Amino acid sequence: MSVFVEEKKKVVALLSGGLDSRLAVKMMQNQGFDVTAVAIKTPFCDFDCGRGCGFEIRETADTLGVDLKTVYLGDDYIEMLKHPKHGYGSGMNPCIDCRAMMFKAGKKVMEEIGAEFIISGEVLGQRPMSQHGPALRTIEKESGLEGKIVRPLSAALLPPTEPEMSGLIKRESLGMIRGRSRKEQLKLAKEFGFENPPNAGGGCLLTDPAFAIRAKDLFRYIETPTTNDIDLLKIGRHFRFNSKTKLVVGRNKDENEMLQSLALDGDILIETKDHVGPTSLFRGDHSEKNLKLAAAITLRYSDAPKDTTGVVIIQQGDTKPELLVYPVAESEYLQYRI
Ligand code: SF4
Repeated sequence: MSVFVEEKKKVVALLSGGLDSRLAVKMMQNQGFDVTAVAIKTPFCDFDCGRGCGFEIRETADTLGVDLKTVYLGDDYIEMLKHPKHGYGSGMNPCIDCRAMMFKAGKKVMEEIGAEFIISGEVLGQRPMSQHGPALRTIEKESGLEGKIVRPLSAALLPPTEPEMSGLIKRESLGMIRGRSRKEQLKLAKEFGFENPPNAGGGCLLTDPAFAIRAKDLFRYIETPTTNDIDLLKIGRHFRFNSKTKLVVGRNKDENEMLQSLALDGDILIETKDHVGPTSLFRGDHSEKNLKLAAAITLRYSDAPKDTTGVVIIQQGDTKPELLVYPVAESEYLQYRI
């Protein structure tokens, strides 16, 4: 006797590690779909990096029992960030262009595995820039996925999508969640038996006001920043001396070590000789005047007395000359702070 087993229809989900996309996946699984998750990383995401990048998303995918594909948007993302077609949010976040790129990456996976449509945890009205009706439609259009993006948490409030119209999804089982409150999501999480639902939001440095200031400064002076330039933005205190020259001063031991590992050929690392203090990375025009200023700022942030000279070590390649400088006064160096 032959048994006919109907294959489950495939769906791709953009998975962020947050609660909303987790709920969206579960809703589709409950409707009998085989979900493949796609995690998108950009140079600006900051997901649980302390525990190893993407650790939490991997854990989420395992808990949900879905396959996980990770897509890294690197140079293309940086290129888009220079002039996002739909502008920036309150930081340097190009949310509409960013979401369109993410969905485009998801579309590729859809095509590879033969999925019917794509879902995300987006909630109508939750985020000011990208989650209102017109923005959602723009994102669909820009990603070439018109009618094929389902947002299960809010779908019953949105125009019907292709899979709903064709009867693939039951619209009556889709959500009507709107706005920034997480009450409904937490209720659903309880219903689905999710333990320790993650906190809301976070993860994108481009929405962080202090980071956005540093990123804008970088894009102003460097035509195409590298991931090394961007990784530098994530740590330390930043000072700009001129269009080519920057100093980054570590704020703790971890940052000092990171600065050492991010130093490129041609960069100078500065440290105090006789006192506990930061490591600074000095990049750009190493003129005597700039070098003295960089050394004086480094000394200023060390435990060295502020009213007398101190010795700093200037490390470039294999050479380590020493320099005697006076710590710079706050009123003098603050003008360079980014
Ligand atoms: S918050 Fe960041 S990751 Fe999220 S859509 Fe906006 S730019 Fe993209």
